[in-house]
Amino acid sequence: MIHLKTEREIDIMKESASIVGRTLAEVAKLIKPGVRCKTLDSVAETFIRDNGAVPSFKNYNGFPSTLCISVNDVVVHGIPGQYELHEGDIVSVDCGAKKNGFHADYAYTFMVGHVSEEIRNLCQRTKQALYLGIEQAVAGNRIGDVSHAIQSYVESYGYSVVRELIGHGVGRNLHEGPDVPNYGVKGSGAKIKKGMVFCIEPMINLGVKNINIDRDGWTTRTADGLPSAHYEHMVAVRDNGTELLSTYQYVEEVLNKQ
Ligand code: MG
Ligand code: MG
Repeated sequence: MIHLKTEREIDIMKESASIVGRTLAEVAKLIKPGVRCKTLDSVAETFIRDNGAVPSFKNYNGFPSTLCISVNDVVVHGIPGQYELHEGDIVSVDCGAKKNGFHADYAYTFMVGHVSEEIRNLCQRTKQALYLGIEQAVAGNRIGDVSHAIQSYVESYGYSVVRELIGHGVGRNLHEGPDVPNYGVKGSGAKIKKGMVFCIEPMINLGVKNINIDRDGWTTRTADGLPSAHYEHMVAVRDNGTELLSTYQYVEEVLNKQ
């Protein structure tokens, strides 16, 4: 079900999105070798609650944590635990917060210390694919135009696109319509209309596209054990065109100082 939002509702969502962006920045300050994933999670939960919001993921279908922290071969939905980050790891931090009845949901993949060129490229190109998708997220286009832009770019580097997990509409529900796959055919899928708010979130693997889920029911890994990158933004189709509700500004301010 696609719920179109009013301009006012989109403004409310922007406030939730700002909290997520600032939460990711708090996490960014702590990302270095030796930090436990669990520590990042508790810092994020405290920050979200201190800002009058609630973590969107905690208890969502039984998910136990505030953040999804997904290291290296974990594509998404990693549960933050005792693992200590290592030099050379990549770590997707996905965060959701609800305030005034509306969710925000987005993610950034961080590099821990020095990361190999091959894996750095995977991250940079996954982020670039996200922006190419966003360029297509305009009224009158179709979701397939977004999907195709992402898929064709990453596949040109020999990477693969996870099929089982996709982007989604967001609003009063964490996941609503439309479905936003990261693969697809131009001109297919839902027509993009004013009032739509959705998350675009390429999950791009260095090796094969196939994934497995651990026995915890959440942790989603690449089948070949090679790394995967994940970036997510929220776009709103507004009266004056498409606007990014999410922001990496706070995260990048932290990273640029390091
Ligand atoms: Mg999402
Ligand atoms: Mg997310």
